[in-house]
Amino acid sequence: MPLQRAAVLAVGSELLTPSRIDTNSLMITEQLNLLGIEVAYKSVIGDDREELAAALRVALDRVGLVVCCGGLGPTDDDVTREVVAQVLRRPLAEDERITAQIRARFASRRMEMPEINRRQALVPAGARVLSNPNGTAPGLWLEEAGRAVLLLPGPPRELKALLMAASDEILKPRSPGLSLVRRVIRITGRTESHTEEAVQPLYTEWAKAEVPIAATILASLGQIELHLSARAVSRDRAEAAVEAASRQVGDVLGLDAYSRDGRTLEQVVGDLLVERRFRIALAESCTGGLLTSRLTDVVGSSRYVERAVVAYANEAKVSLLGVPGKLIDEHGAVSEPVALAMAEGIRASAMVEVGIGVTGIAGPGGGTPEKPVGTVAVAVVIPGATRSRLFRFVGDREHVRIQASQAALDMMRRMLGP
Ligand code: AMP
Ligand code: MG
Repeated sequence: MPLQRAAVLAVGSELLTPSRIDTNSLMITEQLNLLGIEVAYKSVIGDDREELAAALRVALDRVGLVVCCGGLGPTDDDVTREVVAQVLRRPLAEDERITAQIRARFASRRMEMPEINRRQALVPAGARVLSNPNGTAPGLWLEEAGRAVLLLPGPPRELKALLMAASDEILKPRSPGLSLVRRVIRITGRTESHTEEAVQPLYTEWAKAEVPIAATILASLGQIELHLSARAVSRDRAEAAVEAASRQVGDVLGLDAYSRDGRTLEQVVGDLLVERRFRIALAESCTGGLLTSRLTDVVGSSRYVERAVVAYANEAKVSLLGVPGKLIDEHGAVSEPVALAMAEGIRASAMVEVGIGVTGIAGPGGGTPEKPVGTVAVAVVIPGATRSRLFRFVGDREHVRIQASQAALDMMRRMLGP
């Protein structure tokens, strides 16, 4: 039976502390996905015999392939090898060839092998040994009643080499031979639930399709991502199914779906500026340069970014951008007229086609009942069109700034767009 679904068990008590994070499972997931094997779930388990045995039993009950990483060291706290042997009822015996390899590894560094390293030469009966070019702990492969267990060492460099070797020699011939293709659709201007509501009818259709599409919605600040994936006998077929599904989403969501090809919002805006041969100048207050930073993160942005000014103080808005002091007195620094004057001011002095102004209250202080923290005015001026808008964002200082930069980019995108 081909290996369709896997579980990843990351073993190590350090992974249950706030100071270490399990990154190995990401590497493992990526590699399994390439082979068309889906990761059904993963767990992080401490160096604890009972917990590991329980997790292993559950995994063997639920999936065809269990990949364990970590816990193969020579010290007493590393118990993966022994627990796996115990759960699968395989006696452990020392493999003299492994002992010799470990001994040689120490000898090459002019050291004698500590006796405890012999634990790493213990092999459960019937296991296939994957020798480790970068360390002392070999990987192990065991099969039992149609299910398989792959044990990999914890250090990422060692794990990677063994994972690649196991992939080629063991997993590929046993994999379903399906190709898995993923696609991310990025969306603005809708909440997660509004997006879900609009896309829901497609889910039903996709589930019944010849090449079924799986979908997940992820919400982040000022943006929703819809992740689509498909598995098919060939990469082309999976690709075609995902492409068709992403077109359907585009039809349903219209302009709100701004990227179906992996591009970020700043890339999409950059491409639109290039297309229209426009150059841009930015006047930022509460975003403190974040908007410019995001735009200039894009390779090749020198083609369209001309300049930017961070005008935090009112005097700076007046002297650097030519915002009339009267306008600030009348409407307040955080207002659509001032954002507009900022955009027009920088656009005129830079002599470019696109000007943008952002002014707001990022907090935590500075809010008033009429203009609470999170109030941000954004204005965009392009040839033949001017827009300004007052937003109310929720969240702390960082969140407000991120959402403000996102909203400004999105306003620009919609104005420059088709
Ligand atoms: P072990 O095989 O348990 O002796 O792991 C040795 C070292 O590998 C640990 O101290 C970690 O630095 C690293 N390590 C173990 N598991 C992971 C993991 N899941 N993700 C990233 N690093 C890990
Ligand atoms: Mg460990």
